[in-house]
Formats: sequence, structure tokens, C-alpha cells
Amino acid sequence: MQTLSKLERIFHPIFEKHQLIVSVKRDDHIHPIISGNKWRKLKFNLLFAKNNNYKGIISFGGSFSNHIHALAFACQQQGLNSIGIIRGESDYASNYTLTMAQQWGMAINFVDRKTYRLREDTDYLENLKQKYPDHLLVPEGGSNKLALGGVGEIITELNQQCEFDTLLTPVGSGGTLAGLIQADNNQHQLLGISVLKQDGYLTEQVNHLLSEEQHFYNWQILSEFHRGGYAKFSKEDEQRIVNFNLQTGFVFEPVYSGKMLLAFLDLIEQGYFSKGQRIVLLHTGGLQGIGGMLERKRLDRDVWSVPDFK
Ligand SMILES: *Cc1c(COP(=O)(O)O)cnc(C)c1O
Repeated sequence: MQTLSKLERIFHPIFEKHQLIVSVKRDDHIHPIISGNKWRKLKFNLLFAKNNNYKGIISFGGSFSNHIHALAFACQQQGLNSIGIIRGESDYASNYTLTMAQQWGMAINFVDRKTYRLREDTDYLENLKQKYPDHLLVPEGGSNKLALGGVGEIITELNQQCEFDTLLTPVGSGGTLAGLIQADNNQHQLLGISVLKQDGYLTEQVNHLLSEEQHFYNWQILSEFHRGGYAKFSKEDEQRIVNFNLQTGFVFEPVYSGKMLLAFLDLIEQGYFSKGQRIVLLHTGGLQGIGGMLERKRLDRDVWSVPDFK
């Protein structure tokens, strides 16, 4: 299971103007199919499942989920079954993401919103375990303690690739940030950009995942850059991302990496960083999500395209 990703310098007039040294950790390029951070988070979950003779993995997600997409492919590669408990109705089965997931062998189980809300409920999970005793349960987004080690490898790689002061990552459920914090052990400033509206529960969630014996202080989640909420963005936000992509040749998408990027550009304008600061942006992948947004006409077909996964 290959997980090493490149680090690339990125140039833009605004970086030059503020004398910032910016690089991108290309987890979007780890693998042609699987989105970067979801692959990292699954690595030790897959190993655990195999070493403990589980037949497969069950997990949860929305109908356009990067995690579900990655899980289906990774399980197929590892000879494991996969079952996706998906929020929504069965007509989603033919959408961009779930079509591929099913081609890779995932069994899809649609549940209504009310049931989906039980995805962390002890009794509900206990029932699932009894129904599928030979399947490992992995939470939504793959964010459990086993995920941290895989994400931590990003830090090990970075330490060999460059010297840096600050690392930025988008934050959805907090698993990725927690893995980075644990492996980094206060060596660098870690900044999480929340991609959804929240007041503090993400910090709690990250602390919950981190080991209690160590004290981690060199990190923070910035909450004011969600742009209206999860997967919400304005036409203007989209245009800024498109312009940046055209100028640099990188592809940031508007749900995760693009929200981190816009926050980064806003922070630069606010004078948040100091001259000479060496900054790494973690590109967490998720480009398959563009497919679903094109399908729902949430993005412009003339501007955006997705890699062909089939
Ligand atoms: C899930 C996801 C994130 C958020 O990661 P968490 O570990 O849930 O915080 C960031 N970027 C992409 C592309 C994702 O798919």
C-alpha cells in the first residue's frame, strides 16, 4: 500500500508580496483513485481488519462521501468486503460516487436521516455488530484512533522533505488534524481550518482522539472560514478558487482543500503570517467530490473536470 506523497513549492504573486515560502503536500496524488487523507486514515484500519480475520468493514457516509469512495476501493484491493450505510434514498445508488463504490463491490444500505443520526449510538452500533459479527465497524469519515497512525506518516514524510514552520489542513471530523498533532508532538504550528459551522465541538473531538498522556499545545482550529457551512460556498468563492487553480496549475476543490486555500489567502491579507514564514498546505485530495457536484450542477462543467476513475 503506497502512501508516500510529494511536496511541491507553489508560487503566487500574493505569496511573493508577503514573502512567504509555501509548499503543498500532494496527498491528492498519493493514488489515482483514493482521496489522500481518507487513504491515510484507512491504512491501519485495513491492517487491523486483516490481522484480526475480519471479512470486511462497515462504515457510514453521505451519498457523495470521499470516505465511502475510498473505503470501497481500498477494501476491494485488500480482499475485504465493504458495506456502506448511506444517508439518503435508494435513487442515489446511481450517482457518481456510489456507482463506483458498487463497482468496487460495496454493498449499499440506505437509511433515513433519523437512523443515520444513530451512527454513534452505542445500542445501534451493538445491534450492527450482532448482525455483522465478522465485520469491523469504522466511524463516519474513518476518524478513529487507528486512523491517527496513518495520518501521522504525513509528518514523518514532511520531516524528511523540508523544514517548515506552519502546516494548514482542512478539518471535517478532526481525525486528520488529530493524527498530525500526535505525530508532530508540538514541533510545528498546526492550523486546522473548519469547513463546517461549529462552535468548539471539533476541538473537543480532536482532544478526544488524542492520547491523554501527552500535552499538545501547538495547534488550533480556526472556525470563521466555513463560508456558510459544510459544502456551502458562493459563486465568488468558487471563482476565487478557479482563478487560483488557473494561476498555479494545482486543483483545489471547494468543499475541503479549497476552503483551506481561501482561508489561507484571507489570513495572508490580514497579515497573519510573518515574513519568511515557511508554510505547508496539506492537499487532502477529495477530487472525486467534484464529480457529484457537477452532477448536481453545483459547479460549472466548462471550468471543472474530474479524473476518470473507471
Ligand atoms: C474528509 C476530508 C477532510 C476532513 O478530514 P477529517 O479527518 O474528517 O477532519 C479533508 N479533506 C478531504 C478531501 C476529505 O475528504
